[in-house]
Amino acid sequence: MTPNPRLTIDLDTIEQNARVITGLCADHDIQVTGVTKGICGHPQVARAMLRGGVNDLGDSRLENIHRMRQAGIESSFWLIRLPPLSAIADVVAAVDASLNSELSSLHALSRAASDRGEVHGVMIMVDLGDLREGLWPTQVLAAAAEAAKLPGIRIRGLGTNLSCFAGVVPDEANMQQLIALAEELEQNLHLELELVSGLNSSGLDLLAAGAMPGRINHARIGEAILLGRETTHRRAWPGTRQDAFVLHAEVLELKTKPSQPRGAHAEDAFGGNPRFEDRGDIVHALLNVGRADVDVAGLMPLDRGVHILGASSGYLVLDLSEFVGDIAVGGELAFSINYSALLRAMTSEYVKKELHGG
Ligand SMILES: *Cc1c(COP(=O)(O)O)cnc(C)c1O
Repeated sequence: MTPNPRLTIDLDTIEQNARVITGLCADHDIQVTGVTKGICGHPQVARAMLRGGVNDLGDSRLENIHRMRQAGIESSFWLIRLPPLSAIADVVAAVDASLNSELSSLHALSRAASDRGEVHGVMIMVDLGDLREGLWPTQVLAAAAEAAKLPGIRIRGLGTNLSCFAGVVPDEANMQQLIALAEELEQNLHLELELVSGLNSSGLDLLAAGAMPGRINHARIGEAILLGRETTHRRAWPGTRQDAFVLHAEVLELKTKPSQPRGAHAEDAFGGNPRFEDRGDIVHALLNVGRADVDVAGLMPLDRGVHILGASSGYLVLDLSEFVGDIAVGGELAFSINYSALLRAMTSEYVKKELHGG
């Protein structure tokens, strides 16, 4: 028996997606850090990204970076989340470079790297309006001036992250602002910034339109490689595939049941108050995957006539009334998944990972 629930992962698809994205970026003199946080630093997936041409790897979690290093991956690594003061020594030991916006962290990195006789690379992050990480533009120069004086760290670049918290889209104006800030640092601090890092998967449209200003030369890309989508409208990216990951789950119960609950009802197990449309009796199915395993809102059935009614921690509840084909207890259904569902499926120990290709 094949274990369920399971996530099948097609490594050749990921490699090919990476090749398409890194090729596009290379045409614009942009090097790509492959972002592995969506797949928890899964070593074979990371290797597929490297085969597909990413320059190096970045993850938001040290645990994931340890996992890749322990698997013997010889890439340079970025910590793409701000380093925690509680783990600075680990940061300096585990990664070559990190993204930063706090002087206290930069001081701590400086001390920790100096203790090891090493130089830790730093990308200073600027918040151009998405309201996640980064110094406000007016504060960048003063902070960078102080950072530039610290031993043990080297400012490798200036970066920004968009489309992640507030959904602010990269455009020519905010990319020009990033470049202007980079040039201001270079002139005032007499340094040369190796990297101006403006893109994640949300910047591909601007790039393909030929509207990305030339000085931008670094991208940090996860979703477009893993799931083949740009992330401003989640459009499938030309030449990439969207089906590298497929979730399979098994039918545990299959019965005719009414579409409406019986009895007085209050909150469900998760504090919600679900509403039920009266459609008479339906073909009601329970699958062995639930909220502990995936973001249910990010599941798309691959078979026609499969409707998701909801989920508890361990059951996905379906209406199969319109399903044509054979299905029985013990049978399987398959789902494509979005980034949020992928992240949870990769994180869940209950979901088995089945690799193909590579
Ligand atoms: C997650 C992340 C990325 C990658 O974003 P995608 O949309 O998956 O390409 C890039 N940079 C930072 C700082 C991130 O946290």
